[in-house]
Amino acid sequence: MKKAILMMIWNKITDFIFPKLCFNCQKRILKGDLLCTECEDSLTFLTEICDHCGSYKDPKNCPTCQNSDFVFDKARSMYRFDHLIQTMIHEYKYNEITKFAHFFSLKAQQYFLEFQPFPKIDIIAPVPLHRVKKRARGFNQAELLTREIAKRMDFEHIPDLIKRKKFTKTQTKLSKKQRMENVASAFQVNSRYQVKGKSILIVDDVFTTGSTANSICRVVKEEKADSVFVFTIARA
Ligand SMILES: [Zn+2]
Ligand SMILES: [Zn+2]
Repeated sequence: MKKAILMMIWNKITDFIFPKLCFNCQKRILKGDLLCTECEDSLTFLTEICDHCGSYKDPKNCPTCQNSDFVFDKARSMYRFDHLIQTMIHEYKYNEITKFAHFFSLKAQQYFLEFQPFPKIDIIAPVPLHRVKKRARGFNQAELLTREIAKRMDFEHIPDLIKRKKFTKTQTKLSKKQRMENVASAFQVNSRYQVKGKSILIVDDVFTTGSTANSICRVVKEEKADSVFVFTIARA
């Protein structure tokens, strides 16, 4: 008991000496450790969206769906890719990662509970990072996020469910068309796992054209998954 009180006093002192500042506006934060209440409130979930791909551009007559061959059952993004979200994602990728993973996973949990976007999820998996990039950065930020979401939502997390195919040097000898076909099928489902009959959720940071997520969803469907969904922090 005494220890708890001392701890509380100590926290108050350190808060006073090293106040937590809002990542966005540098104002002092009283609650949480990333954004002040005002900045956090400025982040609102996307609502007026295309039911299939989650785009906010002309949701009733979605141009993205019309010009794409999306095979996923549904895609959802929490936020518009505006300046604040863009800076946060950048910071999350290159700097203080855990704080952001914690923040975004908490938001994802709120989003799932509020909108119930996906009827059922068995497995959650990140978009795999390119091997070279992973080596340089030492971690996959999407994997950190999926791990935290899985914990909160009680999904099964398989970080290496999707693998990037290895290309041999002969790739350079291929024609442009052949190379493009190769890129279109750059992913495969890790043969150690079974997705047959299951509902899979693929997670990435930003949905831009959706082509990466879509090519992953295609290989997951080829392995006879029941449904495959896409979830991203932001939507370009
Ligand atoms: Zn602020
Ligand atoms: Zn759409």
